[in-house]
Amino acid sequence: MFYDEARETMPAVKRAEAQRVMLRETVRYAYEHAPATRRKMDEAGVRPGDVEELADLAKIPLTRKADLKHIQKGEPPFGGLAAVPPRAMRRIYVSPGPTFDPEGRDETHWRWEKPFVAAGFREGDIVQNTFMYHFSPAGLMFDEALLRLGCTVIPAGVGNTELQAQVMKELCVTGYVGTPSFLMSILEKAKELGYTSGDGLSLRVALVTGEMLPESLRKRLRDEFGVQVRQCYGTADVGSLGYECAEANGMHVPDEILLEMLDPATGAPAPPGAIGEVVVTLPNRAYPLVRFATGDLSVLSDAPCPCGRTSPRLLKLVGRVDQVTKVKGMFVHPEQVAQIVSKVPEMASAQFVVTRIGHEDHMEMRVVLKEGVASSAAMESRIIETARELTRLRCEVRFVAATEVEEPHKRIIDGRKWD
Ligand SMILES: [Zn+2]
Repeated sequence: MFYDEARETMPAVKRAEAQRVMLRETVRYAYEHAPATRRKMDEAGVRPGDVEELADLAKIPLTRKADLKHIQKGEPPFGGLAAVPPRAMRRIYVSPGPTFDPEGRDETHWRWEKPFVAAGFREGDIVQNTFMYHFSPAGLMFDEALLRLGCTVIPAGVGNTELQAQVMKELCVTGYVGTPSFLMSILEKAKELGYTSGDGLSLRVALVTGEMLPESLRKRLRDEFGVQVRQCYGTADVGSLGYECAEANGMHVPDEILLEMLDPATGAPAPPGAIGEVVVTLPNRAYPLVRFATGDLSVLSDAPCPCGRTSPRLLKLVGRVDQVTKVKGMFVHPEQVAQIVSKVPEMASAQFVVTRIGHEDHMEMRVVLKEGVASSAAMESRIIETARELTRLRCEVRFVAATEVEEPHKRIIDGRKWD
C-alpha cells in the first residue's frame, strides 16, 4: 500500500540531500509567490540563492504564530503568506482570534495519512471522528485522510457523549480520532450503558491529539478497554508535524516538512535532547511558510527507533513559549481573558485557572468585580456566555476579592499535572 511504503526509512545522507532540495525550492517558491515572505527576506537582505543549507535558514527572520492575527489584519485575509488568492483555496477555516487557516487544493495539504497508518488504522476500519467540523480544520482534515486510506468515517463532532457511545456500539466502530480525554469519557459512558470491549464494543485503535496524553491514561485505555492509542501532533497552519509509531516513544517528524528546533531564550538551534521551539518551513504550493514559529516547545531526539524509521522524533510537547495554553484541545490566549473583562462592564479583572478533574480539563474563571458591584446569578451566566463565545469553552465562575487572586500578573494559570 502506498502509505505503508512511505515510511521514513531513508538513510541520513539521503534525507539531508532531499531536505536541501526541498529547502531551496520552498524558499525560492515562497519568495516568488508569497509577498510577506518576500518582504521579510528583502528586509533582512537575503536572496533565495543565499539559502543552500538548513543552517542558512537562520538568515531569515521568524514568522510567529502568535502574531498571525495582527499580520492577517494588516494584509487580509492571509497576511501575504499565501501563494494563491482566497478563491484558489479549497477551504478556509477560522481559528479563534479570529485567524484564517487556508487549505490548498492539493490533496496532500495536511498529510495525516501516515499518522493513521502508523497508529494501526487500515482500509475497512469504521472510524468515529470526534473533532470539530465547523470553522476548525480538525474535523475535515482527519476525515479526508481516513477516506483516502479506505476507511469509513462517522463525522461525529464534539460532545453528545451518550450518543457517541451508542453509535460506537451500534455501528461497530473500530477506530477513534479525537482528544484522549473525550475517548475516555465515551468509553466510561459506554461501560455505564453496559457495553464493554468484546461485548458490544469493537474499538481497536485510536489516534489522539489536541491535548497531553498522560501515560497513565494510555495504559488505562489499553488495559481496561483494549484500545491501542497513538498520538500525533500538528497545527491548523501546517498540518501534520509528528506521529507515534508502534513503539509509542516520541513522534516521528514527517519527511515532507523542514523542522528546526530553536532555543526559546536565544533563538539559536537547540541541540538534540534540549528543549526547543518547533519552527516549520512548509513546502506547500498554496501556503508556503518559511520559518513559521509554532510557539510549541518540545525536545527532538535523533536516536534510532526500533520501528525502522530513520526520521528524528519529537519527544513529548513540554509547553508553550507564551502564556497561551490548550484546554480541551482549544487554544486559550491571555488576550481572550482581557476581552471578556472588557465586554462585561461590572468586571474589574479575571483569571482562568485550568486544572484536571479525573481525565478531563476543567476551567474556572476567578472574577473580581468592580467596587460596589454585587454578584448575581444573571451576571454569572452572562460572564459564562461571554467566555463561551470568545473561547468556545465552558467555564465555571467564582467571584473572588482582589486580595484572593494568586499571581495576579497572570491571566491564565495552568495547574495541570501530566503523569
Ligand atoms: Zn518509530
